Amino acid sequence: MSDDPDIEADPEARVRLASLILRLRELGISDRKVLGAIETVPREAFVPDLYRDDAYLDRALPIECGQTISAPSVVAMMTTALELEPRHHVLEIGTGSGYQAAILARLSRRVTTLERYRTLLELAQTRWDLLGITNIAGIVADGSKGWQTQAPFDRILVTAAAAVAPAKLVAQLVDGGILVAPVGPVDAVQRLTLFRKEGTRVDTRDLGAVRFVPLIEGIARNL
Ligand code: SAH
Repeated sequence: MSDDPDIEADPEARVRLASLILRLRELGISDRKVLGAIETVPREAFVPDLYRDDAYLDRALPIECGQTISAPSVVAMMTTALELEPRHHVLEIGTGSGYQAAILARLSRRVTTLERYRTLLELAQTRWDLLGITNIAGIVADGSKGWQTQAPFDRILVTAAAAVAPAKLVAQLVDGGILVAPVGPVDAVQRLTLFRKEGTRVDTRDLGAVRFVPLIEGIARNL
């Protein structure tokens, strides 16, 4: 039953998930809602078949189109940092597998997520449909400039690395909004950075070292 996303159907996956949750707690991730979302969204449904047994390890894994799904601890840390509320409209840039969007969708009203690979977005949409997740709008678009059509957003999460702080994206936040993005050299380690917009001020906070695939301008050709 390797293509059954229902974790209830696979007792081994349940055991792996339980030890992942333990590991996240050991790393200091304690937000009950975030841990609850990780418990209920089956990560195994978002990774290629080849990596299904590794889905509950705290590791980034390769996905289609040469991209990666982030490690669960990074997903948990970013989600916690966003301080999500059920009324929030969240913009995600870099849909990838669709896993992070599914986690955000559990904890907010609506998620708009942008991906430059049509193939990835279509795969992600199939997974959300299969899991009955209906509050995500996935769009094939270049997210490097955000999504002005629906701005402002309560929260913005960038899951691909940019060399410089994303000022255009901060401009698409509501007053009091939070943006989390990996900032730094695209071929090395970046700093996960939190930007909180307060009137005309933007406060920043360093959340630690991360390694993301690069944010690339334009829609991907061919795929
Ligand atoms: N959040 C994802 C992982 C992100 S991987 C998950 O949960 O699986 C980063 C993704 O950002 C890749 O899929 C890449 O194609 C996408 N990306 C890179 N530059 C982009 C851009 N300018 N606009 C939209 N998506 C982009």
